[in-house]
Amino acid sequence: MTKLRAAKSFRRSDSAASLQLSEIVRITESAKAMIASGDNVLSFGTGEPDFPTPPHVIEATYRAMKRGEIVYPPTQGLAQLRQAICDDAQEQTGFSANPDEVIICTGAKQVLFNAFQATLNPADEVILPAPYWTSYADIIGLLGGVTVSVECDADLTLTPEVLRAAITPRTRWLLLNSPGNPSGKLYSRDELVALANVLRDFENVWIIADEIYQHIAYEPFCSFRVAARDLADRTLIVNGVSKSYAMIGWRLGWGIGPVELIKAMVAVQGQSTSPASAVSQIAATAALRGPQELLQERCASFQHRRDIVVDALNQVPGLTCRVPGGAFYVYPNCDGVIGLTTADGSKISDDADYCQHVLSSGKVAIVPGRAFGLPAHFRMSYAYAEADLVEGCRRIAAATAELS
Ligand code: PLP
Repeated sequence: MTKLRAAKSFRRSDSAASLQLSEIVRITESAKAMIASGDNVLSFGTGEPDFPTPPHVIEATYRAMKRGEIVYPPTQGLAQLRQAICDDAQEQTGFSANPDEVIICTGAKQVLFNAFQATLNPADEVILPAPYWTSYADIIGLLGGVTVSVECDADLTLTPEVLRAAITPRTRWLLLNSPGNPSGKLYSRDELVALANVLRDFENVWIIADEIYQHIAYEPFCSFRVAARDLADRTLIVNGVSKSYAMIGWRLGWGIGPVELIKAMVAVQGQSTSPASAVSQIAATAALRGPQELLQERCASFQHRRDIVVDALNQVPGLTCRVPGGAFYVYPNCDGVIGLTTADGSKISDDADYCQHVLSSGKVAIVPGRAFGLPAHFRMSYAYAEADLVEGCRRIAAATAELS
């Protein structure tokens, strides 16, 4: 079938002109195309937990649907879910919030989009410690803001000195993500307190703490809001059910912040998606109100897989893999293979060449670090079956051993 071509007069807006599919999607699509043509490719590209939605969540949602509860919710989100989020923040995280300080969105991504849309003027700066999740920079750029990517130390930690040096009169936000994607970095309470000490000197700088991986933490998790209670009036906490409860497809996330910010975000949301789906809001309420033991069980399973992958990759000459404190990604350094040559004489000039070689020769899809603002690394998700991870690491080792 021939595809419909756009009329010659089609043009993108200036803000969308350079927007591309993310490198993560690009690699995943290439892997899918190879699989479709018969290749046995193992893809570790996407960050999707391999657990099902908890069965009690599905049951509760089904019952609510049968009772006819699926109506148009308020733009800010259902009152019972906003209350459940506040109770959860109090019980599990250790800070108190009021339902007026909560917005429910179509995924944590939309929380970020609403916040930036509601607050960024052209050329306003957002500080992102590198490596950072690719979408942060894309959303900021789409809205006319400027990403200020800052270098972290060898442990992929933002230091107070680097933060202080990065702040300018145009800085609007610092975006901290702990546990982090792609680094797996889990900030300790002391590390957060040290950053907060700097932020107290700059009252125009607001903080987004993206804590979507809160429950996938292998050491004690500390929310920024707990480490710096006095900065709550300029902090936005981002969270949701996607990762912790393995409910990515329900598209449900939330923001907790000062009422004026939340009101502005609700106004933005009212002219885009309107409220998040009522079905998903009911499901998220059931997840938060239901049994919580599964969070620990799933976290332990991720930790076991982390250990397998870190051990295996650290045995590959040329790769060095830090032990991540949370989330379900490893972010190994591949500096040691850059400059080597493949069997057919092609030079590995950077992390993208290395990932391409691992895909074409080893049949394993991993994502080059350049996508996350810190090249000479790659990201591998370990939210996959243990046997696939073992085989994937074996293939990475074999493909790397072909280089000379
Ligand atoms: N924040 C981080 C750090 C993520 O890794 C992701 C998803 O990969 C999100 C936010 C988006 O979450 P959601 O699926 O709820 O939009």
